[in-house]
Amino acid sequence: MTELINARQLEGGYGRLAVIRGVDLVLKPGEVVCVLGANGAGKSTLLLTIAGVLPLIAGELEVLGEPVRGGKAFQVARRGVSVVPEGRGLFYRLTVGDNLRLRRHRGSTIATAQVLDYFPALKPLLGRKAGLLSGGEQQMLALAGALIADPKLIMLDEMSLGLAPIVVEQLLPIVRTIANERGMGVLLVEQHVRAALQIADRGIVLAHGQVVAEGTAESLRHDAELLEASYLGDRDAIAEAEGNGLL
Ligand code: ATP
Repeated sequence: MTELINARQLEGGYGRLAVIRGVDLVLKPGEVVCVLGANGAGKSTLLLTIAGVLPLIAGELEVLGEPVRGGKAFQVARRGVSVVPEGRGLFYRLTVGDNLRLRRHRGSTIATAQVLDYFPALKPLLGRKAGLLSGGEQQMLALAGALIADPKLIMLDEMSLGLAPIVVEQLLPIVRTIANERGMGVLLVEQHVRAALQIADRGIVLAHGQVVAEGTAESLRHDAELLEASYLGDRDAIAEAEGNGLL
């Protein structure tokens, strides 16, 4: 298996209402791919469809080499997929240490000490309740929890929500380092476009549930105008960019 995610003409949504349509996405080990787009563009819906939480309405989807049909998130998780949801998914009344112990499983090849080396700020906080941590520390714990489950693929939904830009700028490079050192694939849903494109390999931009732009992070970084137009879902601008060979 060379692809962690292979989605072709993916359609997903709520009930029979398709929110994302015609999405093609490939993600390989060690790659960081960011999903960008305005509020309501369908970023979380895409992530939840790939995670098997939402039903697959149409298209084909393979995660870690096996088909996903939707509605069976636990099966996808068991294959080696960690999802950090928008709300961070922590047990706020439990300590940092207990949150980590809960996510670790017998087959994990990564030791707690190795995980904490990526997040040294958590070391003195192991005995503190997760609910008493700062937003940035909670997000570190959410990332550490995802990592300690020893996944092949991590999907992060708006990890920067509610965090100061400086905290986001500290956390995202850690994600890059983890992908480089552990060979994990990372699918990153992010509103902080600039910061995400600094650490990603590639990006796709969604507007109204469809991919309106995609490319290497470098090409997206250097074409702010195109990115902006994509955000507004301005298809004429995209067509023009395509005509000019920019896409
Ligand atoms: P944001 O950045 O604001 O989180 P997003 O790009 O992640 O936005 P989604 O949360 O995927 O967007 O939402 C895409 C569309 O799906 C929106 O129009 C939203 O109203 C709709 N939607 C989201 N959740 C549901 C739901 N449970 N039932 C029906 N429609 C939903």
